[in-house]
Amino acid sequence: MEALFGAKRYRTFDYEMKRIFGSKVIKLSVDAGMGCPNRKNGVGCIFCTETGSGEFAGNPELKGLSVKEQLEYQRQMLSGKWKSDKYIAYFQSYTNTYAPVDILKQKYDEALSAGVLGLAIATRPDCLGDDVLDLLESYECPLWLELGLQTITCHKQINRGYDNDVFTKAAKALYERKIPFSAHIIFGLPWETPEQTLDTVRFAVQNGVFALKLHMLYIDKTAPLAKIYETDKFHMLTMDEYVDAVTEALAIIPPDIAIHRITGDGKKSNLIEPQWTKNKRLVLNEIDKVMIKKNYIQGCKSDNNTIKSRQVMYINKQ
Ligand code: SF4
Repeated sequence: MEALFGAKRYRTFDYEMKRIFGSKVIKLSVDAGMGCPNRKNGVGCIFCTETGSGEFAGNPELKGLSVKEQLEYQRQMLSGKWKSDKYIAYFQSYTNTYAPVDILKQKYDEALSAGVLGLAIATRPDCLGDDVLDLLESYECPLWLELGLQTITCHKQINRGYDNDVFTKAAKALYERKIPFSAHIIFGLPWETPEQTLDTVRFAVQNGVFALKLHMLYIDKTAPLAKIYETDKFHMLTMDEYVDAVTEALAIIPPDIAIHRITGDGKKSNLIEPQWTKNKRLVLNEIDKVMIKKNYIQGCKSDNNTIKSRQVMYINKQ
């Protein structure tokens, strides 16, 4: 079977960006200091780190810098690694629609004034009031949201802080306004089976995501989960188990949905388990190998496996 997505059997972020924008696009992470309603009582999602799950944006070097300065700092830092002049500002840490709308506008505009071509905004589906949606809809640049779905089965155990129908309601509102959104899904949560994780994938697809971020559960020493793991050493997926689960997910994800992430991206120095996630290259290679071994290509088990162009989902309003 021939790979349909460049060198890969699934639609990667890199592949999509090159297809749409003609060359590599680099994401620059931003901590806009917005906080999170789910952390008001000091707990939040049990896997969330001290930097609000914004590992790169939580870099101490960036502390106290404005949005524009953070972007400039990272642009310079990454200029030696990748040759590209195309950037997306990634509002990564905490909940990036959790502020009065004039503050949100100021932060997003500041990022755009730094010469990025668009915005990726991580947030919660319960922080998308009409005023926020109006603001997001007003932007004509590429813009998408990343919603922390994680699981539809054990969201209470992970203290996600909202019910599944809140996601569905937000997804409907975003879809109607043509604001693209992706979902984060965690594999290996100890309160669900691999088949239940696939149910979360199906749920996200049915709710109209244009992209997905698939992660292995990892335990960061600054997250509440670290304490739970200390007393209750639950099973963490091995690399083989993760690769098996994630390749089954790729088989049911329609091929027009981009996979914006397929490995964890935690801070290595804070990682308790699983240690194998540190070797990202190895995990990616294993996924490629197993896709070939199973003779899978993204969407091969999906009801909707027509390859469509998703240009509309990146270039807002087209
Ligand atoms: S919603 Fe995001 S920032 Fe808030 S606690 Fe959960 S993972 Fe952390």
